[in-house]
Amino acid sequence: MQFFDTHIHLADFKQEPQELMARLKKAGVEKCVCVSAHVRDWPIVAEFARNFAFRVVPAFGLHPWYVDEFGATFEHDLEAYLEEFPAALIGECGFDRLKNTDVTAQKKVFDIELDLARRYHRPLLLHTVKADDVMQKYDALLPQNSVFHSFSGSKERAAQLQKFGFYFAVNQKFWGKKNANDILKSIAQDRLLIESDAPYQSDVEDLEELVKNIAKVLQKDEKETADKLYLNALEALIDD
Ligand SMILES: [Zn+2]
Repeated sequence: MQFFDTHIHLADFKQEPQELMARLKKAGVEKCVCVSAHVRDWPIVAEFARNFAFRVVPAFGLHPWYVDEFGATFEHDLEAYLEEFPAALIGECGFDRLKNTDVTAQKKVFDIELDLARRYHRPLLLHTVKADDVMQKYDALLPQNSVFHSFSGSKERAAQLQKFGFYFAVNQKFWGKKNANDILKSIAQDRLLIESDAPYQSDVEDLEELVKNIAKVLQKDEKETADKLYLNALEALIDD
């Protein structure tokens, strides 16, 4: 089986890039989206994209936990990366009330990311935790093919988002959710993506188990499911 890991923080591994990319290959990860959480990740993510152009799709953004890193050159710098990398996505970004209930600063950053995403026609990789009400106001404005990373919403929320044709990425933590199976079944099969969110929510070696679990819940063949999930990611995230 081969996988397209749609959310991994390559900048946060202790391993050397060559060794890390070999590890991904061994785990079946043919392609991945390398996301940024911090502004300081951007040059590292860019380096991965330059050195492993066929395998790494870069994503530049600022995680809602770290919006105090926002500075005067934020927009200019982000735009420069989008221009250098025509295939780059924006993320991860979004809203999270877990560490800070005041989302004012998060809104300021997100509005800039959204504006750039719309101008450059790039999908957003969205992180939304305890903030569905804030995100909902943006639903109709989000660019095509945007991805709800580590989707943790309800079946109802999934139904709302599917009207816009967005994508949903799940990782091994998804199964801890109440009604996980029902939520998964409610998502159109061409809108489903997989991710490791390594080195955080799971490891790249867990993707195989994740796909097997998905196949089991959807009562599909494992290999067929893996191929379908790979194709979904190509369609969502690779512009051709
Ligand atoms: Zn992440």
